[in-house]
Amino acid sequence: MTEQETIELSVVAPVYDEVDNLEPLVERTRAALEAWGRPWELVLVDDGSTDGSSERMDGLAAADPRVRALHFVENCGQSAALDAGFRAARGRLVAMIDADLQTFPEDLPDLVARLEAEGADAVIGIRARRRDTWWRRFSSRFANGVRNWLTREDIVDTGCPLKVFRAAILARICMFDGMHRFLPTLVKMHGGTVIQVPVRHAPRQAGSSKYGTWDRAFRALRDALAVRWMQDRVLRWRLR
Ligand code: UDP
Ligand code: MG
Repeated sequence: MTEQETIELSVVAPVYDEVDNLEPLVERTRAALEAWGRPWELVLVDDGSTDGSSERMDGLAAADPRVRALHFVENCGQSAALDAGFRAARGRLVAMIDADLQTFPEDLPDLVARLEAEGADAVIGIRARRRDTWWRRFSSRFANGVRNWLTREDIVDTGCPLKVFRAAILARICMFDGMHRFLPTLVKMHGGTVIQVPVRHAPRQAGSSKYGTWDRAFRALRDALAVRWMQDRVLRWRLR
């Protein structure tokens, strides 16, 4: 069997100026998944970093064949980085995690176990005790409310950076700039099942957030209207 067929879990992390988070990210992912005991890979996608992340990623990839580094020519955004990582991923299951370690790679085995136990196509984290400022928590809660209302959904924390998917469902999803905020809904739209599971959360370990409140809010609202339209128009044919 080739290596390609044996990878169980690909972990995809978008990286935009996260130089001081990369070593802990790789270390903690490696420790957690070695203890888990199944074959895995970590796909780091450099979204046009200029802080030395790019070179650091290459060093980490050279030191461990399970760590892979992809580099964008220029900054293209978090959705683009995830899309590139999803396409490069070779695992039967594909996880996503932010490089800033606000969620825990150590939670991945539990999420996979839940996905498998329930036969779901995706498991979405819920940041249980969220370690962000009250303003971030408030605006995120408000955004989730608006998004759920517009898309007739019940996703508690669509922005949680920790999620696991079956690769087959990701391959069906139509990706767009901003799609990373709608992945659970996109999975359901394409016939997949989604479960939501509490995960741990921590303050950003190093570096700084790449988003402000208002730029994100307006883009997300526009995208929510487009997703609502897509929900009504998606093709759902099946051969018998
Ligand atoms: N990110 C990216 N491209 C961007 C913005 C962010 O790849 O244009 C990455 C970033 O490095 C991090 C993740 O996406 O791994 C989430 O970004 P961030 O932590 O800044 O978002 P927040 O948690 O503050 O919402
Ligand atoms: Mg973050």
